[in-house]
Amino acid sequence: MDRVYNFSAGPAVLPEEVLKTCAEEMLNYHGSGQSVMEMSHRSAEFKEIIDTAEKDFRELLAVPDNYKVLFLQGGAWTQFSAIPMNLMKNKVADYIITGQWAKKAWQEAKKYGDAKAVASSEDKTFSYIPAVNDLPIDENADYVYICQNNTIYGTRYKELPDTKGKTLVADVSSMFLSEPADINRYGIMYGGVQKNVGPAGMAIVVIREDLITEDVLPGTPTLLMYKTQADNGSLFNTPPCYNIYVCGLVFKWLLNKGGLEVMKKENEEKAALLYDFLDSSKLFKGTVQKEYRSLMNVPFVTGNDEMDKKFVSESKAAGLVNLKGHRSVGGMRASIYNAMPKAGVEKLITFMEDFEKKNA
Ligand SMILES: *Cc1c(COP(=O)(O)O)cnc(C)c1O
Repeated sequence: MDRVYNFSAGPAVLPEEVLKTCAEEMLNYHGSGQSVMEMSHRSAEFKEIIDTAEKDFRELLAVPDNYKVLFLQGGAWTQFSAIPMNLMKNKVADYIITGQWAKKAWQEAKKYGDAKAVASSEDKTFSYIPAVNDLPIDENADYVYICQNNTIYGTRYKELPDTKGKTLVADVSSMFLSEPADINRYGIMYGGVQKNVGPAGMAIVVIREDLITEDVLPGTPTLLMYKTQADNGSLFNTPPCYNIYVCGLVFKWLLNKGGLEVMKKENEEKAALLYDFLDSSKLFKGTVQKEYRSLMNVPFVTGNDEMDKKFVSESKAAGLVNLKGHRSVGGMRASIYNAMPKAGVEKLITFMEDFEKKNA
């Protein structure tokens, strides 16, 4: 069967070149006679894989020397707990609620301390980002938490919030490595990798060194202490070895393409094609306030549930898959991550134009 264009929000499309390398190296990685899946995580071969992955990741995001890069099991969700457990020295944190993921992180943090919602866009089904330049930040807040790109609703921050000097923690799962970032502005930048980077089940956590301490909440599991992971180079217990290997291949792919400035340009071009079409369409319309539109996740509707269903099933038959919107919002959503080629977006638009003509 031919490969499809996969618009899934996650697990999501990976670069075809990377998948081919995985296939070629599956049985015999670099003459070792073994698959990476079979290798000891203490072997010299694996040490080179994880060290190279970290080096390339640091180069891509220009990660400063006073930050650690951790490869951790448990996806993004596990970090919803690890963050308060490690950072809540005063047991106070401020959360900005811009969608389901921010809300879930906030609810989890409430188990550990006084987690406050200092702004929310829930009043308009999260179709915008609230004003973040003068928030009622608690003077004792241990950190301010955001979800920088909202996978389900298709919004993104235009600018980072003014945290009034407090540590910024950001979930960037669905925009990881889609554009350059100034890491110095973050205390923690983290994300699950299955949206824009690699296979499911792992998070990458970029954390400023002064936030890594033994002074964590009582009862914090050993594995969830950033200190445990940082002191052991993400090799305290068996890490998600194969996942780290695939992510490493994706980092090389990104570097070979020219890095994150090039990705940003490509992502802006792809998103502009789709949003311009949505703005000119009489059948389809975007659901997000224009200035907050995500470059990665593009939700849209026809305004008619039956028509939406028809679109999802006919697009699937045409090899454009996983366009159904999240179960909580309905409609459609096209996730156009780094690995989605421009040709995939063009094919989607052509399909939408035809569908519109046929259903006028
Ligand atoms: C998908 C997603 C998560 C959850 O990731 P898991 O790896 O399933 O825990 C968290 N935050 C954002 C922004 C996401 O898109």
